Amino acid sequence: MRIGVLALQGDVREHVRALEASGATAAPLRRAAELGGVDGLVLPGGESTTIMKLARIFEVLEPLRAAVAGGLPVYGSCAGMILLADRVDDEGSPLEETIGGIDMTVRRNAFGRQVDSFEEDVAVEGIDGQPVRAVFIRAPWVQEVGPGAQALGRVSTGAAAGRIVAVRQGSLLATSFHPELTGDLRIHEYFCDMVRRRNGGA
Ligand code: GLN
Repeated sequence: MRIGVLALQGDVREHVRALEASGATAAPLRRAAELGGVDGLVLPGGESTTIMKLARIFEVLEPLRAAVAGGLPVYGSCAGMILLADRVDDEGSPLEETIGGIDMTVRRNAFGRQVDSFEEDVAVEGIDGQPVRAVFIRAPWVQEVGPGAQALGRVSTGAAAGRIVAVRQGSLLATSFHPELTGDLRIHEYFCDMVRRRNGGA
């Protein structure tokens, strides 16, 4: 099972490491031609505007859309979640388009500028055991999901209580938080499982 990590900008290495530790063969991916050689793809956190700009420059944006439309399993974390959203509710900082694929509206930097990062335990549907320790860094939240998408996890405390921070739609998975930074492999394992099932593997 080969999983690529889009390596235009962001925390690529951490995802490669977490995927390898979850049993996948993982490598950075930058070119459209490389998309044909992977069974799944991770869109890392970073800055969504920068990743979109570089995706256009590297001529990988349309191939990414085609891959999503073709059913390639994709997991987006933080900025990656924004890229998978069909709609972005954006105040001020412009992001005109995304890759899209998940029927949801995300709000960038939603938790407020004064709160750059924080951690919280989030119960995620489909992840057994303890709640996931979620690290949020200038994170988006999901404003609303359409009928096609399923909310898997929500913030449970504070002013943002009830906000959706994990979503799945078919072969697409997105989290507002960064599981690649905690050493807890369960989100990456969950995604590897999605890839394996799509490949018809056990
Ligand atoms: N704030 C970033 C954005 O809007 C996302 C931050 C992150 O990926 N850690 O793209």
